[in-house]
Amino acid sequence: MVAEWQGQLKEFVNTIDRLEQYVNLTDEERKVLTTNTTTWGTTPYFASLMDRDDPNCPIRKQVIPSRHEQENVFGMDNYLVWKENRATDEVRPDSIARQYKDRVAFTVTQTCGIYCRHCFRKELVVDGDLTLDFNVDEGLDWIAAHPEVRDVLITGGDPLLLPDDQIAYLLDRLRAIPHLEMIRIGSRLPIVLPSRITENLQKILGQYHKVPIWINTQCNHPKELTEDTARAVFDLMRCGVNVGNQAVLLKGINDDVETFRALHQKLLTVRIRPYYVFYCEAAPGIDHFRTSVEKGAELIRDALRGHTTGLAQPMYVVATNIGKIPLMPNYTIEGKTDQEYTLKNHLGDTTTIPNIPE
Ligand SMILES: *Cc1c(COP(=O)(O)O)cnc(C)c1O
Ligand code: SF4
Repeated sequence: MVAEWQGQLKEFVNTIDRLEQYVNLTDEERKVLTTNTTTWGTTPYFASLMDRDDPNCPIRKQVIPSRHEQENVFGMDNYLVWKENRATDEVRPDSIARQYKDRVAFTVTQTCGIYCRHCFRKELVVDGDLTLDFNVDEGLDWIAAHPEVRDVLITGGDPLLLPDDQIAYLLDRLRAIPHLEMIRIGSRLPIVLPSRITENLQKILGQYHKVPIWINTQCNHPKELTEDTARAVFDLMRCGVNVGNQAVLLKGINDDVETFRALHQKLLTVRIRPYYVFYCEAAPGIDHFRTSVEKGAELIRDALRGHTTGLAQPMYVVATNIGKIPLMPNYTIEGKTDQEYTLKNHLGDTTTIPNIPE
């Protein structure tokens, strides 16, 4: 029997004909799709969340290629090679990206459940300009030989698109490495293909174990959150897997106060804990999605901090080749003397606390 999620992949919405079952294409969208040479598409489930008539629908803009992808003023050539430190002296398999001593990103596939137009790994995943060899055993051997690595992020592509037996194999091998303390999986499937969280997958992920599994998903707009996602996240948590969110700050999609707040509040209603909001990276062809760098910190100041539940607060970061750099809103310290600090809250009110000499 073909499982629901496998049926969804068989019906993957990556032709104009299939897309037209969900939206009335504009002339421009049709024109771009006709000449497009990049990988695009998503699941029928996620496609069904698109607005039929509005080309500015936040989901539609993440799924359907835009002519602006051909314009590249600010994107860096060979972005991924720079970003993932692939040009350094350390000998590593293609599958291992490293910026930190104690943790690495381990790429195991380049297939996705949505080919996000804003993807920072688009050279690899969407454009097919970069070819890497993702030999899983080679990556596992490298991790096993590096005792300083205590945390592995399995990434892609979307690792949860691998067949169950391959996921089980990967986790078994990782959990047999004595220095590994935790495993993280980056997957958009709880959002774009929630039916992937099958009973069997729950069995594979959900054993009580000293090496816990954390999943980080990517949800960028409240419209992406449905009852199906709520159920999938609940099922993951019920078997011991925590679910966090890594949103991308996207111009015209989630860069206004109302949407940004609604996104983070709604994530908590489906039990997803906001973890990061990323500045949209300088990969080529995604200039049109990029805001100013300050924007994310301003949104945390104007939409979240003090305005809503503390658990709804992600950290805003710029991901770079030397690691993720957090940017905080800088309004909080109004002044400082030898005697006291003046601190400002989200409403602009100030208060003072003593400045204790060290
Ligand atoms: C994002 C990332 C990590 C993990 O960073 P955290 O801040 O621990 O979530 C690790 N390695 C690479 C290469 C990364 O890009
Ligand atoms: S699911 Fe992730 S890797 Fe795949 S296209 Fe979207 S952002 Fe890129």
